[in-house]
Amino acid sequence: MGTGKVYLVGAGPGHPKLITVRGLECIQEADVIIYDRLASPELLAYASPEAELIYCGKSPRSHTLRQERINQLLVEKAREGKVVTRLKGGDPSVFGRVGEEAEWLAAHAVPFEIVPGVTAAAGAAAAAGIPLTHRAYASSLAVVTGHAGEKGEFCPETGAPTAGRHGIECEQTWAALAGGVDTLVFYMGMNRLGDICRSLIRHGRTPATPVAVIQWATTPKQKLVTGTLETIEQRVQESGIGAPAVIVVGEVVRIRDRLQQSMAFHAAGLAPFSGGGQQG
Ligand code: SAH
Repeated sequence: MGTGKVYLVGAGPGHPKLITVRGLECIQEADVIIYDRLASPELLAYASPEAELIYCGKSPRSHTLRQERINQLLVEKAREGKVVTRLKGGDPSVFGRVGEEAEWLAAHAVPFEIVPGVTAAAGAAAAAGIPLTHRAYASSLAVVTGHAGEKGEFCPETGAPTAGRHGIECEQTWAALAGGVDTLVFYMGMNRLGDICRSLIRHGRTPATPVAVIQWATTPKQKLVTGTLETIEQRVQESGIGAPAVIVVGEVVRIRDRLQQSMAFHAAGLAPFSGGGQQG
């Protein structure tokens, strides 16, 4: 039997209609689907009834299947001649470990295709009525992990632990983000929200810079809280909003006030956010 293939697919931010047409085809074609916690479970209804469905959970605390095991599974199943669809929340290349999985597949000569998806920042921005860039307010955008680095990785300048080249433990990173990028979107940052805001202020960002926290964007559970770099931590505590959420920092957040009245329905058919959302 010949080697099968692996599709590394972005499932989109939550609403099942926000997957791409190609992504949906990969689900329909699959003999095996290995899916994450944040991939919309409704999408599994499009799988063949014979398809094997494997959950690899990865909630922040418990790793249901370790990354090494997922890598092995992808290769094992493909070598059985199967079509394997690895379904990930959002876009596979944005904090989705697609690099690790694709490298592993390449090293084992397993053919694969990467299918992009709508990343949480884009989904949350659309749902909330916040343009991530705007000709008048924001000409640059950064997506940043709020998660500290992997053990054993260190910032070359300061020696602090880091994720990637310059992680968020690194003062140089904060200086660059605070001073050089208009819109910042933090993923996995909810348990460090206060630190994130204080670091941006310490590096010169105006304390009155608007911030939106958007949880479970594009799903029926979606919630939004807005404030400023100074107030958002307390607003979040009062509202009880938590992970999974993105933190959007920048002047573009203000535009929501002008848009939300007319956002009767989200593109994917969801009701708009109710209540909350006052700034200040
Ligand atoms: N590959 C994914 C990100 C995985 S990291 C993507 O492109 O979206 C997981 C983080 O993504 C969460 O901690 C949260 O910050 C963010 N996230 C994922 N889905 C989300 C949603 N529906 N609403 C808000 N944030 C979400």
